[in-house]
Order: sequence, then C-alpha cells, then structure tokens
Amino acid sequence: MSVTNPYIASSVVYGPVDSRRLGKSLGINFFENKLCNYNCAYCYLGKTLKGIGKPIPTTQIIKEVEEYLKNNTLIKIDYITFCGNGEPTIHPDFPYIVRKVLELINKYRANTPTAIFSNASTLDKPEILKTVKLINRAFLKFDLVNKQHFYTINMPLDGLTYEKIIDNLKLAVSEGIKYTLDVAIITYLLKEYKKNNYEYVKQWLKIVKDINPPEVNLYTIIYHPDIIEEKHLREKLNKVKKDIEDVANFVKQNLEEGGIPCKIYI
Ligand code: SF4
Repeated sequence: MSVTNPYIASSVVYGPVDSRRLGKSLGINFFENKLCNYNCAYCYLGKTLKGIGKPIPTTQIIKEVEEYLKNNTLIKIDYITFCGNGEPTIHPDFPYIVRKVLELINKYRANTPTAIFSNASTLDKPEILKTVKLINRAFLKFDLVNKQHFYTINMPLDGLTYEKIIDNLKLAVSEGIKYTLDVAIITYLLKEYKKNNYEYVKQWLKIVKDINPPEVNLYTIIYHPDIIEEKHLREKLNKVKKDIEDVANFVKQNLEEGGIPCKIYI
C-alpha cells in the first residue's frame, strides 16, 4: 500500500496501540487509503476523496490477520479492534470478515475481546447489525452537533441523513447492543454551546435522551493539548480547555440525571 498521511494504516493489522479505553488495542484495517461515507472536517485521516480508498481484498485481510495471530501469540493485546482507514462496515465483505476474524481469534487467542469504531450509518442493514452484535464493544459516533452542523462538520456522503443516524442508534438500543455513544465536542462550536444558557446543547441532549444509549463517552478530537507539537494549536486548546470542561460537565450531569452513564475524556 502506498501511504502519505502518517495516520493512514499501511497494513491490515497494526499496533497494538495504546488506547485509553481499550488498553493495548490491535487494529484491523479494512481499506487501502481512506474510505468512509462521512467526510468529518476534523478527520485525522484527511479528506474523503472519491476513487482513492478501496477495500482490501477479503482473502488478503483474513490471511494477514491469521499470520499475525499465529506468529505473535506472546504480545500483550487487550482488545482486537475493527477500525483503521475509515468506516469498517462499508467494506462489502464486512460480515464475512468479522466472522472469520472471530474464528481466528478463537483459534489463536481465545477470550481476547473485540471492539469496533463505527459511525452507525449502516446499522439498518440486518446483516451489519447482526455482525456488530458479535463484537464485544461497539463505539458508535454521534458528535455534539445539531442537524445543520451535522451536514457541515460530519459531511455525510451517499445521501445519509441526520434522521437516519438517529434511527440507527435507536435500533441498536432496541436490538440490545450495549454500545458506547462516542461524542466529539467540536471546539469550533464552543460559542454555540454556551450561548443562550446552553440552548444548543439542551436540544442535542433531548435527542440523545430519546436515543437512550447504554452509555456516553465525551471527548475532544485532540486529547492531550500539552503534547501537541504545534505551539499555536497547543496554546489555543489550552485556552479553551475550561470552556470544553464546562460543556462536558454540563452534558455529563444532564445525562446522568436522566439515567445515562457518561464518562469524559479530555
Ligand atoms: S467517520 Fe471517522 S473515519 Fe469517517 S470521516 Fe469521520 S472521523 Fe474520519
């Protein structure tokens, strides 16, 4: 695979990387270059460009996962995670690949739990929903954005709508998927959040309470401002840190009062 962006995985299996929520996480990547049905303004993989990303052939994914698991039995791995260069569920063979990988985990690393990071856009497809159910932990994205900002910040492609994502998140609840709603606090919107006694956030909270996810995790795109190399960015984030914390605490308190557990990672 030819790769220019350092955040783009250059192989099927990558890591294990240190994850604050998952410990040592071994990534399984489905795509050569970025392939996603969103084009989030903040995506560290870069822009979603048509014709650049493509699914890695299924046989290659299975082969590389098997080789890795067979040859690295002693490496510490807390989770095996389906993520990588984009939205894993849009790989045309996603259900088959996940089942095969689960068989391989069972063969070489029995009892190692699995996780997936997804934007929930395909959960209305019964085969995808069934497959996600087989994975131990699902992190489903629904950023702190209203309908208008969903289209300008997450920039969904393929006719995906805000309403469809909400329906899919509700479906996942009714199907018993014990997922974590993964919520990015977009710093660009801080003024909106704090305006009019948090009216923007309250509208969003109403929707999330209606979805009623099993739990919520709040985070900013860059977790640790202190380690950012670009001075201007580091200073900017440190400057707004208090505002971010205020918003996060407001959300957490409101969700928990409504019986939805919430953790903050900023
Ligand atoms: S959903 Fe994830 S991979 Fe896709 S554009 Fe957004 S941040 Fe990037």
